[in-house]
Amino acid sequence: DFDREIKVVVLGNGGVGKTSMIRRFCKGIFTDEYKKTIGVDFLEKAQFVDALQEEVRFMLWDTAGQEEFDAITRTYYRGAGAAVIAFSTTDLDSFKAVPGWKEKIIAECGDIAMCLVQNKVDLIDQAVVSADDVEAMARQLQLKLYRTCVKENINVSEVFGYLAELHNKK
Ligand code: GDP
Repeated sequence: DFDREIKVVVLGNGGVGKTSMIRRFCKGIFTDEYKKTIGVDFLEKAQFVDALQEEVRFMLWDTAGQEEFDAITRTYYRGAGAAVIAFSTTDLDSFKAVPGWKEKIIAECGDIAMCLVQNKVDLIDQAVVSADDVEAMARQLQLKLYRTCVKENINVSEVFGYLAELHNKK
């Protein structure tokens, strides 16, 4: 049995790498039964979190493309203890949408543990937003910033370790 269990929602515009991030972190272990029951992609992963000296069981939910229609259901947010707000290095709209995602999370879940993720840093030569602008956004929204490359598995588990630590403080 696990001492600690956190539901984490991964939000951001379509195409930023949310599904890839969840699958990468959970190594593709799907809970098909759950999907059949409530119709969402849901994965879980246990990871030892150094800062807590404890194993944490992360329950990850994927929006499965529903974000395109602003149709993410209450079920998706219910009981979430932490949230990733992701945008892509190569998609300006996804960056501009970040404050809106934070507001949405606060409206649905309150002031839960959150962080900002700039994904696809392997495509930095095609960046549509400067490092300064990204850092300014993180400061303004008071979110810790992680730069990830889900494709090469860079900084992904760090994001979840941080969220567990922050969740523990709240
Ligand atoms: P979602 O719509 O936010 O769930 O995004 P997906 O996980 O479906 O990813 C959208 C596309 O971005 C896919 O083709 C992924 O392979 C690609 N992708 C995800 N992460 C990265 C990354 O770190 N680097 C690059 N170059 N592509 C990525």
